[in-house]
Amino acid sequence: MGETVQRILIVEDESEIRRFVRMSLAAEGFEVIEADSVQRGLIEAGTRRPDLVVLDLGLPDGDGVELIRDLRAWSDMPVLVLSARTTESDKIGALDAGADDYLVKPFSAGELLARVRAQLRRRTRAVADGSTSVEFGDVKIDLLHRSVEKAGQPVHLTPIQYRLLVHLAGYPNCVRTHRQLLHAVWGSSHGEDTPYLRVYMGQLRKKVETDPSQPRHLLTEAGVGYRFVP
Ligand code: CA
Repeated sequence: MGETVQRILIVEDESEIRRFVRMSLAAEGFEVIEADSVQRGLIEAGTRRPDLVVLDLGLPDGDGVELIRDLRAWSDMPVLVLSARTTESDKIGALDAGADDYLVKPFSAGELLARVRAQLRRRTRAVADGSTSVEFGDVKIDLLHRSVEKAGQPVHLTPIQYRLLVHLAGYPNCVRTHRQLLHAVWGSSHGEDTPYLRVYMGQLRKKVETDPSQPRHLLTEAGVGYRFVP
């Protein structure tokens, strides 16, 4: 990617957290832009075109989710949401609105950087990659022939299991909400059918995880959804 400096917008009204995020990111060579409200955040996002947005949900002039909805009308830049533990349901709303991942406060600089890097890597790869297969652990998905192998042996997946796996694999290191997965795999009519999803995820783990009771790639995000880790 050369020496291009990546630019990150932090939208957060608590100056202490903003400062912590700014210093953590600046120390790693990122250029950081700051905003303390929904309105300011949208202006900075539109004029400075950051590579990623770190977004607090509780802002003085509105909800961070409003910013995501507005942003998603014209941009797919990654959005990493900061949420307080007391407002966990808000983070699901933010993810459904188009946020890519979240961090629960308080978080460490290491956690922040890991999430930021995962999102930036994902975007870079999505742009550069025309590849027809996905590999993780000893599993290989052949997207062209719609087939899956584990340790060189063919794995038989039903069409739904396959769609679920491929959808998750398209979002490495990102959390996908129950609603997003149901929508992507079954269509809009199954938006609330979380137990359905759990059954299929169990079946899928049995087929692709070495130890389905200790999954390493298809992880549960309690109360939110699932995360694929390559
Ligand atoms: Ca706040």
